[in-house]
Amino acid sequence: MNIRFLGTSHGVPLPKRHCQSFLIETDGGDYLFDAGAPVMDILINENYDLKRLRAVFVTHMHSDHFTGLLDLTCLASWYYKDMNFQVFLPEQGGITAIKSYSAAIYSNLSKRVQLKLFSAGEVFSENGFTVLAYHTDHMDATSNIAYGFLVKTSKKSVYITGDMHRTLKDFNPLLATEKTDLVVAECAHFEPSALFEKLKDCKTAAVAVVHVFPVEKYEQLKALAPKLPFKMLFPNDGDVYKV
Ligand SMILES: [Zn+2]
Ligand SMILES: [Zn+2]
Repeated sequence: MNIRFLGTSHGVPLPKRHCQSFLIETDGGDYLFDAGAPVMDILINENYDLKRLRAVFVTHMHSDHFTGLLDLTCLASWYYKDMNFQVFLPEQGGITAIKSYSAAIYSNLSKRVQLKLFSAGEVFSENGFTVLAYHTDHMDATSNIAYGFLVKTSKKSVYITGDMHRTLKDFNPLLATEKTDLVVAECAHFEPSALFEKLKDCKTAAVAVVHVFPVEKYEQLKALAPKLPFKMLFPNDGDVYKV
């Protein structure tokens, strides 16, 4: 599979970096993880075959992971009529927001765009492509909820941390025992050294660090990279990695 980085920024966009969004491309179709970037604009700009999109998964309801979905779902409904995909949201508020936006712009949400709530555990599985959600404490100051995702095919697996708690108490312990091919980790809510302490025990072939704030942390992360027993990658928007 390929992972295409559509947006690698933290809470707000930066020059040449949209907010968080990644597309995982497989032979059987593609899957979007978070939609903080203007996803539809980017895909159109890349002459992407929109029929390939099978499902969208949102880690949590912060704007830097969600707002691109408003346009994606509405444009798929009224204009791009060969699109047909499911959207998995962690809270009812996300479903309400998409429906309200659609109504406000005098658009009807198509049945081809299916909005679904998910919770921890297996979220989705088709043709050997499986997504499992793991709770994080990123939003523990409120009653809201946030998740990381483990994405598996028969041969490969990718873990997306989502946004985590400032103490990293919710860094998924599974990553120290289960082999993964790539971990996509955020680095906005804690120091790079704290993330390094968690990463060094991971049984992964590589880590891609995204959602970095402030951007000065890139230098600290690059200094730590040679001490890890696997590759540390620093994707920019538009980069594609083969997993
Ligand atoms: Zn975020
Ligand atoms: Zn967040």
